[in-house]
Amino acid sequence: MDLAKFQRKNIVVLTGAGVSAESGVPTFRGEDGLWRNYRAEDLATPSAFARDPQLVWEWYQWRRELIAACKANPAHDFIARLERDHGGDFLLVTQNVDGLHRLAGSRKIVEVHGNIWDVRCASCGAGREDRTLPFPELPPKCDACGGLLRPGVVWFGESLPEEAMGMAFAAAESCDLMLVVGTSAVVYPVAYLPQLAKRAGAYVIEVNPDETPLTPLADESLRGKAGEVLGEIKL
Ligand code: NAD
Ligand code: ZN
Repeated sequence: MDLAKFQRKNIVVLTGAGVSAESGVPTFRGEDGLWRNYRAEDLATPSAFARDPQLVWEWYQWRRELIAACKANPAHDFIARLERDHGGDFLLVTQNVDGLHRLAGSRKIVEVHGNIWDVRCASCGAGREDRTLPFPELPPKCDACGGLLRPGVVWFGESLPEEAMGMAFAAAESCDLMLVVGTSAVVYPVAYLPQLAKRAGAYVIEVNPDETPLTPLADESLRGKAGEVLGEIKL
């Protein structure tokens, strides 16, 4: 991968769960993505929360504990350095909720699936960061109205935050390089972003140990783990 030609150009980086895998955060579709034999698709939904908010929160609390023990890896570090050093426009669009990109020093981030350290009231909608761990009771309650707090993330079947997606689409349409790291590129509408970038003339590079639906469209596919592949690149 030769990034010299993208100096001072417009770069968008799109990341998924794979960028955090080497930090120890399980992906949903990997072997260690299960929790008490539940699949993520059975817990990360509005109907699961309506049915059993305590169970859903127990899972999120387990994930918060897991993430709290994780550090950013060389892939997060590389992406933060790229933003700082390349000298042009930059936007990081992440599907991750773990906050590791910010920890690594990335600043221009759009978190299209929210953040696991945020909570939002399911009744009055009030939202804020809340890093309490563990909560004294589950599910936690809203100070303002007494309603149930829910994790500030986007669940399966919910629409993505409009403003964040607007920024992501606009950036994808006008970038010169899109670097897609650790995402299976099957979850829409985020999976449209590389297609849109390609159609608008961008150079698309994928970093993933496996082939994905994006592979045929990418100009370059770097097969390997994100931390190993990106950790070796000098800027
Ligand atoms: P996903 O669909 O983005 O798939 C993970 C991808 O990462 C796969 O294509 C896999 O081949 C690749 N991968 C695995 N190890 C890798 C490595 N070391 N380097 C590079 N690529 C690697 O993600 P998912 O797990 O199916 O999750 C779907 C959604 O759930 C996410 O988009 C996110 O919103 C949420 N989620 C977030 C986190 C997190 O915040 N870290 C973790 C799990 C799930
Ligand atoms: Zn409330």
